[in-house]
Amino acid sequence: MPQHQVLIVGGGLAGMRAAQKAQELGMDVAMISKIFPTRSHSAAAQGGVQAAVSEDDSWESHAYDTVKGSDYLGDQDAIEILCSEAPDDIYSLERMGVVFNRTEEGKIDARAFGGTSVKRTCYVADQTGQVLLHVMWEQLIKSGLKVYSEWFVMDLIVEDNKVAGCVAMEIPTGKIEVFRSKSLILATGGIGQVYSPTTNGLVVTADGQALAYKAGATLMDMEMVQHHPTTMQANGVLITEGARGEGAYLLNSKGERFMEKYAPNMKELASRDVVSRAETMEIREGRGVDGCVFLDLRHLGRDLIMTKLSQIYELSRDYANTNILEAPVPIQPGHHYIMGGIKTDVDGRTWDVSGQNRWQGVEGLFAAGECANVSVHGGNRLGGNSLLDTIVFGRRSGQGSTDYAKSTDWVNIDENSVIRGAEDKIKEIFARPSGGLRTANLRSEMGSAMNDGIAVFRNEEGMKKTLESVRSVRDRFPKISLDNKGKIFNTDLLSVLELEFMLDVAEVIGIGAIERKESRGAHAREDYPDRNDEEYLKHTVVNLDENGEPKLNYIPVTMTQWEPQVRTY
Ligand SMILES: Cc1cc2nc3c(=O)[nH]c(=O)nc-3n(C[C@H](O)[C@H](O)[C@H](O)COP(=O)(O)OP(=O)(O)OC[C@H]3O[C@@H](n4cnc5c(N)ncnc54)[C@H](O)[C@@H]3O)c2cc1C
Repeated sequence: MPQHQVLIVGGGLAGMRAAQKAQELGMDVAMISKIFPTRSHSAAAQGGVQAAVSEDDSWESHAYDTVKGSDYLGDQDAIEILCSEAPDDIYSLERMGVVFNRTEEGKIDARAFGGTSVKRTCYVADQTGQVLLHVMWEQLIKSGLKVYSEWFVMDLIVEDNKVAGCVAMEIPTGKIEVFRSKSLILATGGIGQVYSPTTNGLVVTADGQALAYKAGATLMDMEMVQHHPTTMQANGVLITEGARGEGAYLLNSKGERFMEKYAPNMKELASRDVVSRAETMEIREGRGVDGCVFLDLRHLGRDLIMTKLSQIYELSRDYANTNILEAPVPIQPGHHYIMGGIKTDVDGRTWDVSGQNRWQGVEGLFAAGECANVSVHGGNRLGGNSLLDTIVFGRRSGQGSTDYAKSTDWVNIDENSVIRGAEDKIKEIFARPSGGLRTANLRSEMGSAMNDGIAVFRNEEGMKKTLESVRSVRDRFPKISLDNKGKIFNTDLLSVLELEFMLDVAEVIGIGAIERKESRGAHAREDYPDRNDEEYLKHTVVNLDENGEPKLNYIPVTMTQWEPQVRTY
């Protein structure tokens, strides 16, 4: 059985950054990814990465904007680390070869993004994620990192609440293998496909969140799901916030710049939750067209659009049949990101080393990137802070997992029985009589239900209905059957395994959302329209109990220097 001191599940930015760090520290590291690493969703990030690199900016200002953006649900100690360590991480990315856009004087340029008091988002045209990921990949190839590409992790192996490795299937052959490790970092990305539509890629299916949850770790603030203000109606594809950052306007059907009404100072550049709500109000009150409002870039001119937003030009042409040089493009809020995730400390540990048992976790299990919740985004993430989260906390989890691996012994694994368990699971799915339910139908039933009830605005009735639909899909899950029972590249089979992950996570989102009886950040309730700091300035945490049922609890938010204030933009 393959054995590595540090094993990283996920080949996106968080996984790559963690691998880099652990390798630099002399560890035997390997990375497992269900797709070729540079195809990870990180490559789709367009707009940029935040860091206070300019002389007239400060990390404290970045931290304050992030705390305010989070609607005071972010842990302030973690936010201080994120923002104070950001500039050095940007410089080290630059030294690796990331060609950030420059100012006339040759310094790293920054564009405006929502919810930030100054221009702070460093960028590479509208392809920032792609460039970061490829540069990091080159560095990892150079260093000879061991990569298991196109291996699908099916389960974690945990003995006495200590991680021992994982079991995975080689997608091109169907072979099942056990991977042993001292520490294991989950860097599996978001939950996109739990919602339909979403801006996220087809492979973004909540695997890591579900694996950690089943293994005994804690999921935190999962109700905090972000809808991005500018997505395309045809397929949910994103138009970067960088478009508004460069000066694009939002217009309603009457041609009015409606954000002046909702956020008089920041207008289009208020934070995402605020803009998505404003758009939804305009559409509900009859000032939309066919469920959309408009993004107008015409006044930016051809030069700017073609140099800094050329991908947006192409996406609008291909998916909305619109030439943005000549006409506004229809857009609507759509699912984009999850602030919630696997609860970790600032070194990526899923377990609580304070000795106070504030939350439940698994020793040796780490998480980083979108699947984790440190928590720096709280109730609402600022654009550009997610790439930063993957870089800073990816690196820190590389360090944390190394420290842990050095301090611990290998855990014994009964390899044969683990492999048999995974093989039996697949045999059972293949053995179901043909003509049963289709995965694709159940997936879209879940996705639409989530988008109906737990989106930009929420209320008790809608959320309960969504949760019921999710549970009804789960009840029917065992009736799914497959036509393809082959071993080679059986993506039908993967789709079933992914749906199982997503159903667990969808349920936790629903439970947390119903119980948070206030409005905060992305969680905007029509039945509880105000933020309620007295009762709900706390994190929602969910674990599986002894009977395998979700159990909800709360833990305090860490405050350092910023008291909650009324949030206006
Ligand atoms: C369209 C779009 C644009 C965005 N733009 C920006 C932006 O401009 N700025 C910003 O800050 N943020 C942006 N974001 C958010 C940001 O890109 C993501 O949050 C971040 O890149 C996630 O990185 P990650 O490393 O956590 O996960 P990913 O990049 O999603 O990588 C996940 C990895 O896990 C692997 N994996 C998952 N499950 C398994 C399994 N079961 N077995 C094996 N491997 C598995 C996958 O193969 C993949 O390699 C954007 C997101 C989207 C969708």
